[in-house]
Amino acid sequence: MSLRDDIIARIQAEGPMRLDDYMTTCLLHPTKGYYTTRDPFGTAGDFTTAPEISQMFGELVGLSLAQTWFDQGAPNPFSLAELGPGRGTLMADALRAAARVPGFVEAAQIFLVEASPALRDRQKETLSAHRMTHVDDLDALPKQPLFLIANEFFDALPIRQFVREGTGWRERHVGVKKGQLIFGLGPAQPQPALADRLGDTRDGDLVEASSALAPLVAQIADQIARDGGAALIVDYGDWRTLGDTLQALRAHEKVDPLAGPGEADLTAHVDFEALAQAAKSCDFSRVTPQGVFLERLGLTPRAQALAAGLEGDALNEHIAAHRRLTHPDEMGNLFKVIALYPTGGHPPPGLEP
Ligand code: SAH
Repeated sequence: MSLRDDIIARIQAEGPMRLDDYMTTCLLHPTKGYYTTRDPFGTAGDFTTAPEISQMFGELVGLSLAQTWFDQGAPNPFSLAELGPGRGTLMADALRAAARVPGFVEAAQIFLVEASPALRDRQKETLSAHRMTHVDDLDALPKQPLFLIANEFFDALPIRQFVREGTGWRERHVGVKKGQLIFGLGPAQPQPALADRLGDTRDGDLVEASSALAPLVAQIADQIARDGGAALIVDYGDWRTLGDTLQALRAHEKVDPLAGPGEADLTAHVDFEALAQAAKSCDFSRVTPQGVFLERLGLTPRAQALAAGLEGDALNEHIAAHRRLTHPDEMGNLFKVIALYPTGGHPPPGLEP
């Protein structure tokens, strides 16, 4: 039975499904989920990410965190954690670059939070030179300073969508009609969690909310507030999202999110305002475009140094990768960076308080 048939049978038995439930099922179903069954990255896959585009991304992220670790007194030991490490490329590039900061790699206990068995295997291969521990969530981390990386992780967190009607909200559900999955709307109800959105929306507007976001961010912030450290979070989205940003990608093309459950990547823009508000126990940096962040960290001189050893197609690809990471028409502006850091401290290099 396909995942689509599973979902249809469930809806027929239990009624319309919440969108966050649908997303979680599609992405993380234990045997038929998108991430659980495949390695979706690269040109032959469904999408690519900044660390897969160029080694420079992970190098600069690693150096920014290592400098922050050094500025906080080089704590030893500390947790170096990544949420959703994909192929492990970012962590490998970060560790290689940060090895230049004396003591950093030796003091790091590496923790990878990964739900997909297929990607856990892939991460073990990429990071075979390092000792690391796979964990299901951050509860498993020891009480010690936490330096955390998350690139394109928060966009995979399941969301709910609500359409405004008067002062109430109608939740968008996934239902079944004539054997097909369709979107529908539940009855209008008050949503206390969306009270602050009554000021900037009108009837018919759609807003999104992730119930998983706030507890996770609060957990990261609390650990950083208590034990020290910093979190660097990179994703696409903006300070306050409005409208439907649910997106399904398959073979680098946008497809209907209901078309092939478990066969396409499902994501939504990250609401950086909700993220920052959840980080109550520590400070957060300004939300900064990825292109600006990388250029402040010295992307261009790094790109020039690497270009000196390249020619032909490899050189052209390298130049295209630099542009792709930073140009406002590509990833430079759509992707944003925010850091969490101890109250009264300094944000990691590349970011402003
Ligand atoms: N950071 C990587 C991969 C981004 S894709 C990169 O930049 O290339 C999203 C990653 O998050 C995948 O590794 C996916 O398996 C993982 N993931 C998605 N939802 C998750 C969850 N709820 N818990 C743990 N890992 C999750």
